[in-house]
Formats: sequence, C-alpha cells, structure tokens
Amino acid sequence: MKNTHKALLTVLSGSFALAACLIANSAIANEVTASTQSETTTIEQLASVEQVLKQVHHCNKSITIRSQALSRDKVATACHQLIAQEDKFHQIFNSRNKPVGDDNNTSLRANFYSSNAEYVKYATEHFNMPTNNGGMYLEGYPERQGNHAEFVAFERNGGLWNLSHEYVHYLDGRFNRYGDYCNGLHDDHAGPEFCPTPNSSYPHGVWWSEGVAEYIAWGKNNPKAISIAGKKTYPLSELFNTSYNNNNNGSDRVYRWGYLAVRFMMENHRDKVEQSLVLSRQGDWTGYQNLMRSWSTSMDQQWFIWLESLAKKKK
Ligand SMILES: [Zn+2]
Repeated sequence: MKNTHKALLTVLSGSFALAACLIANSAIANEVTASTQSETTTIEQLASVEQVLKQVHHCNKSITIRSQALSRDKVATACHQLIAQEDKFHQIFNSRNKPVGDDNNTSLRANFYSSNAEYVKYATEHFNMPTNNGGMYLEGYPERQGNHAEFVAFERNGGLWNLSHEYVHYLDGRFNRYGDYCNGLHDDHAGPEFCPTPNSSYPHGVWWSEGVAEYIAWGKNNPKAISIAGKKTYPLSELFNTSYNNNNNGSDRVYRWGYLAVRFMMENHRDKVEQSLVLSRQGDWTGYQNLMRSWSTSMDQQWFIWLESLAKKKK
C-alpha cells in the first residue's frame, strides 16, 4: 500500500477516507511524495489539460467524456450506459428538470487519463487534487456560475472503473442535495475540498450518498453487499451514523452496508425517504437530522428480518 501503483491495484481492500468519491485507499504516506512530484513537474511546465485530454465527446447535454486515449467503442458504450442510468435516476426520484436551488452544475465532465502513471503525472496540476487514489468526483462550487462538475480517473485494465457510481454522485448532488460537498453532513477534511467546519453531530449523510450511488449503479444485483447481509453487523439506526472518519467508516460499512440501508429504505419506507429528500434538497440539515433522530430504532427489527430474507433470496 505504500507504493502508489500497487495501492491502486488493490484499492478495494483499503480503508476509505476522502471526499464523496475518493475511490482508493487513504495511503497517506503518498501525499507528501505526490505534492513534491507535483512541485517539480510544475516547474517543468506540464502540458495543459486541453493538450493532454484531447478527445472530447458530448454524450448528451449533461454528460461529456474527455480522454487521452479512449477508443470510440468505449466512449460509445459509456455514453449509452450513463444515459440509461440518468433515465433510471429520474424515474426513481421524479427529478428530471428539477435541480436543487443555486445549482449550476448542468453537466458532468468525465476525464480519463490513459494510465495510472499519466493520472499521477497530471491530475494534481490539472485539477488541484490528490492522486493517491483511483479517481475522484469533484462537485466544485455548484452555486458559482461557470462551475463544472468533474470526474477524474484513468483507464484501468482497459475499463472505466466506477464511472456509474460516480455519475450517481453527480445526479444526487444536483437533484437531491443542496449545496457543495462541504455544505453537507460529514466529518471529512481531506482534499481537494478541505472543508473548514466539521459536522460533529450525527447522523451524517454518508450512508445515503454512497449507498444511493451503489443502489442505482448495481440495482438488485450487488452480490458483494448481499453476501454480507446475513451477518446483520449493524442495526439500521447505527448505519445512519456512518461517516468517512472516526470509527464509523471502512469500505464495507460505507459502500456495502450503505447499499443495503438505502435499498431497505427505498423498498420499505419510501415515504420516509421522500420526507428526508424534501429537507436535503433545501439544505435544511438540522431538519434532516431531527427527522432521522425521530426514526430512532423504530425500523431496526424490520431491518434485521429483511436482511435475513435477502440473504436467503440472494438478490
Ligand atoms: Zn462514492
């Protein structure tokens, strides 16, 4: 895990720590190295992002794919997949053409370097972000005119790993959650946002953000999450306190248990989800926390029964 290249190949086994979309482990030791390299290469005047990510393809009005070397087939497949996912998201949340207030993120640009080496070489300079990870979603400042939401990653084994999950972050951020990343409920201070004020009180919004990204990306077919459902590791009421730091994190908890929690709520308590969305779309985080606290442990028994049945059905 100390070597950036090796770490990136084993990302899923790491402990997840960074912002909404950091894919890889938190190999903190690499941050110093990465910034030192960045300073050196900046002096050498790196090629600009437009020069490096020369290929630009607009899938539709809300999705652009920019890349160093993606084949036409891969771009076409990715566009098809993302457009289908966008439709699915809006069907589920009835959110088409209804962004939250003050949101200028009219489109997402997905940026792909051709390899991890190229990503490490350029992404910090081009996007002011750490590269000790497998890719990041950068919501930026949606309230600012001209802001552009960016997903930045690299081709891995010829694939566009995690693109579906990241795209849901974009949609969720634009249609379900008011404000920029730091505006929401979490305790993350990592770059590129370096949010100044933590939200120390629970619940946070991480169970939803990461859970809904997994839920929309995988649908009912998420074997890795379903395989651990029968363990009944956490009461639902405890999963609402999932965050990126403290002791409430870890990739299983954030991604797999997040998926299970969101799926349970969507399938069994959609009315409560809608109540929470009314508040999150307004950025009323105090109201959001009060609502969730009022749920308390009321759904825990049903949750455990549901987990048992899911573990038996296996989908
Ligand atoms: Zn994510």
